[in-house]
Amino acid sequence: MLNQNHLSQQIPGYCATTSLTVPRSCGQQRGQGGEETMPLDSEQDIRPEMKEDIHDPSYQDAKGPPPKLEYVWRNIILMVLLHLGALYGTTLLLSCKLYTLLWGIVYFSISILGITAGAHRLWSHRTYKARLPLKIFLIIANTMAFQNDVYEWARDHRTHHKFSDTHADPHNSHRGFFFSHVGWLLVRKHPAVKEKGSLVNMSDLKAEKLVMFQRRYYKPAVLMMCFILPTLVPCHFWGETFQHSLYIATLLRYAVVLNATWLVNSAAHLYGYRPYDKNINPREQVLVSLATLGEGFHNYHHAFPYDYSASEYRWHINFTTFFIDCMAAIGLAYDRKKVSKASILARIKRTGDGSYKTG
Ligand SMILES: [Zn+2]
Ligand SMILES: [Zn+2]
Repeated sequence: MLNQNHLSQQIPGYCATTSLTVPRSCGQQRGQGGEETMPLDSEQDIRPEMKEDIHDPSYQDAKGPPPKLEYVWRNIILMVLLHLGALYGTTLLLSCKLYTLLWGIVYFSISILGITAGAHRLWSHRTYKARLPLKIFLIIANTMAFQNDVYEWARDHRTHHKFSDTHADPHNSHRGFFFSHVGWLLVRKHPAVKEKGSLVNMSDLKAEKLVMFQRRYYKPAVLMMCFILPTLVPCHFWGETFQHSLYIATLLRYAVVLNATWLVNSAAHLYGYRPYDKNINPREQVLVSLATLGEGFHNYHHAFPYDYSASEYRWHINFTTFFIDCMAAIGLAYDRKKVSKASILARIKRTGDGSYKTG
């Protein structure tokens, strides 16, 4: 379908993005009922260099009972301890210094950006390009978030998109809220995840020195950026007690970062409308967008994984897009991919659940 598309450069106001437009005469076809439809893969040329996150509907789960769960007790114990620590942290909130609270919020926001603008939109989906200073900031922010290194995160995430909600999806939401939220990290991977995940092309990340550098030094880097630094700064700079610093700025903040991100895999795959594609599980979930600085427009994101905004809109409940646009304004981000309105409307018409509100 390559020749049916028309790639164009748009400069809409504040930012220049690569945008795909589909001419009515050549990009749309007549459906059985006379409605205008577009071929499934017609929007994919917007990012020709990457196909690894495109949904493969031909993959189906093999028949038979699911394999027995194999618990990873180390992870279970660590997760229980972390959440107990975070819970205790909430009881200290009223007695901590204001700066400690602000520090926790800033650290939360930077950590989330390391996931959303970094591991997700830049490295997993290649929805925009970043210059070295921005990449260095994002890899540090990503290390602060401690959710596996970028390479592993991106491999799991590409597998999630490609084999969404099957046994080959690391956090298959058909296995329930708890499994897709955190349970998948507490048990051994399903054999289908290992098999399919190992086939995902990761050559682009293998060739990126910064990503490989983070992978090599991940453990000491995480110890410093996720645990030691956020605990020591409040104690050293504004005389916070070690107890308040550890339980609020470190354990509570880390637990909130984790749970906010996990909501994308659980809540945003289970609760909400599917205005762009009713045939897939991911949903539009405003609360998740609020918690993750813009990653809850999940039905849109799975329909158009190559859009740098992970949403039809730009700054609407989407601090991550605002951040990327600010980086673009100072020349650190460029080549932001944005799906054209015409393509979005055609997709809504073809596969939406009818909940889309116009005007
Ligand atoms: Zn994604
Ligand atoms: Zn998803």
